Order: sequence, then structure tokens, then C-alpha cells
Amino acid sequence: MKKFLLHTCCAPCSIAVIEELKDKFDLTVFFYNPNIHPQDEYLKRKEQVIKVCKSWNIKMVNADYDPENWYEKVRGLEQEPEGGSRCSICFEMRMTVVAQYTKKNNFDIWSSSLTFGRNKKSDVISPIGLKLEKIYGVKYYAEDWKKKGRQERGNKLANDLNIYRQDYCGCAYSLRDKKLKDLKKIKTNT
Ligand code: SF4
Repeated sequence: MKKFLLHTCCAPCSIAVIEELKDKFDLTVFFYNPNIHPQDEYLKRKEQVIKVCKSWNIKMVNADYDPENWYEKVRGLEQEPEGGSRCSICFEMRMTVVAQYTKKNNFDIWSSSLTFGRNKKSDVISPIGLKLEKIYGVKYYAEDWKKKGRQERGNKLANDLNIYRQDYCGCAYSLRDKKLKDLKKIKTNT
């Protein structure tokens, strides 16, 4: 069976992907998301991924939480909206660490659950994976995980396992923008 490393950003975005891959490959889940703010939220999201992996007996790598490194990479892009250039850097930073790990640990293939998110474009994420495949020599499985009924399946599985669902992408800037949006809504309704 081929060794597959799946980068996961959170449990709701990866549960259907894990289910799909777990019997086809020798699967390991990799949690590397230094973008998540604050730390409590990071720990909460990680706990949920641990819960999913435990329920199916899937191996999991708990990588570093190095937010300083993340802030350094996105410096100057604080005002970018979700989906803008800050996000491409955020994807590439995380996926690079995954690709490096696959090379060091003799994986055959890898992917990321990032494309599962409704606002995450696979035509931005997949080229990053394919670029890293060329650099590190480990095959990237370029799939748009939000398709083929996986969103519905993911919702069902997340409900069944009582998985926590966050309401913002992850970084401090996405949290700020979400709060501003909520505030606007309140103002319009009063
Ligand atoms: S909005 Fe999401 S993808 Fe974009 S930089 Fe923030 S955490 Fe990363």
C-alpha cells in the first residue's frame, strides 16, 4: 500500500477526505497550521483532528506551532481580504513543510485538505502542490476536495462525531474581518 501524507487544516474540512483515503492508502494525517489564532483556537482545532484520527485509528503527526514564522511570512499583507495574496503565502508556507516531511520520511504521495473549504480555490492551491512536487520529488495528489458530494458527506460525519466547527478561516486577520462583518450586520439590523 502506498504511503500517503494528508495535510489537514481542521477536522470539518478533512473528515470526509480521511474517510475516502483511509482504506486505499497507508494514511498519515499531518497537522501543521501556525496561521491559526489565538492559540486556544489552534489547540481546539487540533483536538478535533486528533478525535477523528483516533476514531479511525489513523496515524497523526502533530507538527510545530510556529506562529512567529507565519507572521513574518505574511508581513505587509495584513489588510488583504480572505482569498487574496496573503492566503497564497499561507498555503505555500504550510504545504512546503508537508512536502519536506514527505521527502524526509519516504512518503509516496501527499495532498492537503485545504481545497475542501468553500472559499479555497483549487486553482490556487493545486499549482502550489504541483510546484512542490517538482522541488521535493514526491507526488502531489491534486484534488478539489470540496467536489463529488464530499461537503455533504463531511457535514454528516462531523455531526455524527460532534465535531467543533469554527466560523472564521484561522488567522488573526480573518478573525478581525469576521468580527467587523458581524458588527456591520448588527448595525444594519438595529
Ligand atoms: S484567511 Fe485563512 S488562508 Fe488566508 S491567510 Fe488567513 S488563515 Fe491563511
